[in-house]
Amino acid sequence: MEQSAQNALLLYSSALQDSQKNFGNPSSIHWAGRKARGAVETARESIAQILGVEDADSLLFTGSATESINTALKGFFFYHHAEKRRVRFISSTVEHDATLDTLRFLESLGAIVDLLPVNREGELSLDAWEQSLNRSAPNEAVLVSLLAANNETGVIFPWEKIAALAKAKGATFHLDAVQAPGKIPGFSLSAAPVDLASFSAHKIGGAKGVGLLVQKKGVKLQSLLHGGAQERKRRAGTLNVAGIVSFGAAALALQNRDLAATEKLRNYFEAEVIRRVAGAHVQGQATRRTVNTSHLLFDSVRGEGLLMSLDLEGFAVSSGSACQSGTILPSHVMLAMGFDSIASQSAIRVSLGPETTQEEMELFLNALEKVVARIRTQSAHLHQNPGQIL
Ligand code: PLP
Repeated sequence: MEQSAQNALLLYSSALQDSQKNFGNPSSIHWAGRKARGAVETARESIAQILGVEDADSLLFTGSATESINTALKGFFFYHHAEKRRVRFISSTVEHDATLDTLRFLESLGAIVDLLPVNREGELSLDAWEQSLNRSAPNEAVLVSLLAANNETGVIFPWEKIAALAKAKGATFHLDAVQAPGKIPGFSLSAAPVDLASFSAHKIGGAKGVGLLVQKKGVKLQSLLHGGAQERKRRAGTLNVAGIVSFGAAALALQNRDLAATEKLRNYFEAEVIRRVAGAHVQGQATRRTVNTSHLLFDSVRGEGLLMSLDLEGFAVSSGSACQSGTILPSHVMLAMGFDSIASQSAIRVSLGPETTQEEMELFLNALEKVVARIRTQSAHLHQNPGQIL
């Protein structure tokens, strides 16, 4: 295991042991509480520094990035709705469901939602965002919410430019930055006027079940959780001290990651897939993408069979499609890119970890080549002998 990930894990287990031994709650004022609070504040400072946020007090810990996104979007709506303002959201059709489902809910409460399209490569058009911003009425409260990079294709969006456009029009800008740290070289929130940003600890090697919302000073949100003064009254509830400590350690460990090496290995993988497997397609290859993601389609191969066969070989790859009652549904991202529903059920996403080695990659390439060939032979056989069970 990569040294930095191991350090984060060690810190997490010692923080967990500490919080089991130490009854201290970070909200308590006795010595034990102060000790826990100190650990949380050290983590907050480290994360702020790594993400390029000057004021660590603008960081608020949550239970997941989904909660952070809900807090940003619903908190914005509830605050401005109470002020009797019309609320408009501008976002894209390829956002994570945490954003899209929340926006559908807010639409049902009266919000205006403008979802902007992407092209076949998964890229968006700056003009469309500018035009949408120009359509806002002067009395409207407008929130622009955008991914830093798409979680299925890895395509990086021009979020800095859209944040600047939003600022120029007086809109509030929220960045879903879950896929950014450790995957976009040089990522920093200081690069643009971002008002709100959501992150997840486990995406950078921290514990699962810890999220973060950056809420810059002056950005008004209605709190979603009431019942305590934690996180400066912005999010009630006892903090996950051990999880937050691991988040801080994982953030610091990002500084030691060699993103260029990951990108080189990913590019080698894609070139080898194209060379070895006929009818293989790498999506978004010509666009700027996160360093560790490959989004692949294979002619005449369904994603479900491919996923399960690779799983049997010991490899965990993902499909963007949701699985409901045993049926794979088409990925909303691929449908939005203009693919048909068969292709949208068939793409797989291969994500490299910071510790993935060349040897592991060779093993994976061999397995992929073998599995794709076997699936194609089986479906050709079934085509010739309909009804036969293989
Ligand atoms: N946004 C993006 C882009 C994601 O990739 C994810 C999770 O994969 C989320 C939001 C939700 O994060 P969490 O699992 O912490 O709720």
